[in-house]
This record gives sequence, C-alpha cells and structure tokens, in this order.
Amino acid sequence: MGSKKTVIFAGVPVQVVRRPRMKNIRIRVVPPKGEIVLSCPYGVAAHQWQKVLQEAWAGVIQARERCRQKHSAERLVPVGGCCMLWGRIFPLELVRRPGKPYIRHGTDKIFLAVQEEPSEEYIRSCLHELYRHELMLTLPEVLAECESMTGLRANEVRLKKMHTRWGSCNVSAKRIWLSLSLAGKPVECLKYVIIHELVHLLERKHNARFHALVRGFYPRWQEAEAQLCSDS
Ligand SMILES: [Zn+2]
Repeated sequence: MGSKKTVIFAGVPVQVVRRPRMKNIRIRVVPPKGEIVLSCPYGVAAHQWQKVLQEAWAGVIQARERCRQKHSAERLVPVGGCCMLWGRIFPLELVRRPGKPYIRHGTDKIFLAVQEEPSEEYIRSCLHELYRHELMLTLPEVLAECESMTGLRANEVRLKKMHTRWGSCNVSAKRIWLSLSLAGKPVECLKYVIIHELVHLLERKHNARFHALVRGFYPRWQEAEAQLCSDS
C-alpha cells in the first residue's frame, strides 16, 4: 500500500508514490509512454525528493524522450491498415496495379498502388515518402509563421527519419532538422517543434530559460506535448 499523487516538476508531470517500507528515493521512467515515477518513503519531505529529482533531472528527461520517441516511431507503421496524417486516421487501401508504385491520399483514405503484396517495410518506406511530400507542402507556411512569432530565423530546415527525437538544431549552422514522423501529428505539433528548435538559437540547453522562452512563444505547449506523446 502507499499513496500516489501527480505533481508538476519543471513543467513535466511526475507521479510521486509514497511507500511505507522503502528505504531510498527511487526514480523510474516507465515505458511505453515514459511516465516519470518517483517513489519514496513516507517520512521524506518534499524539498528532499525535489533535490534528488533535480539532480537526476537531465538524465530522467533524456530517458523519457527516448521512451516516447521509440514508442511513437514504432507506431508509424500502419496499425490495422490505418495510418496517421496530420493528426487524422486514414484507412490505408492497397491497390494492385501494374506500373510504378505510388502513394497518395484522398479526403478519407490513403491509397498505395503496388504490383505485388508489399512488405511492412515497403509500406513504411512509402509512408515516409508521403510524409516527406506532405511536409514539403506544409512547411514553408508554418516555418514563416514560427519565424514571425519568435523573430528567429533558421538558415535551413531539413527533413529526415529520426528515431529518437522530433527535431534537432545545429546552432552554429542555424540548421534545423525535423522528423518525418511529424506529418503524422496535428500541424500544431510541427509548429511547436519548430519553435522549440528555433529557441535553441537563443539558448542551447534545455534549462529554465529555454523552457520559459518556449512557453512565452508558444503558450499552448502542454497540448502539443500531450499530442506528441500520444499513441496516435
Ligand atoms: Zn531541444
């Protein structure tokens, strides 16, 4: 038996579990979604566990990020013949036809035309192609909006498959990399990730100043965070 409560620590929910027979404070990042759980004995005061959490925080956030990205990368594969595009579920329809394979999306379906039964890996590569195409169409407008919201400008924005992150920023080259998987999420997530990466041009580290800047430019960050770590 014990007690549980969720607290917000540095903007991130942390479940604090009190257990009667524990000796030490223990922090875990629980797969698949990367929830942070801190367990401690009853007698420990809040400032004590907060201190321990603060010291471990950078590593905890990294572990949480890995967990969440792994989870979402796995979910890019069509589940039950569906795939996500801009936050919506589209049934995936396989069409057998001669000639060059192609993928396109209609208003309520994604069509994949192939000559023979495609492997899951092949479907995944087609989806990446669709995602790249969709991002190329959407990115210019969203990027311009993010740049005017922040007053920050990247020299270059490039797309690639990323397995552990949604984006990254090469600060000295002012180059932003975005994950192709963002095309599966609502467009607000793309905006949030671009703002995150642009803010790195002001602050390299994920410290308090960084988070304050992101929240200032993008007040609905919590919603975007939740969508980025959701299954779909
Ligand atoms: Zn970052």
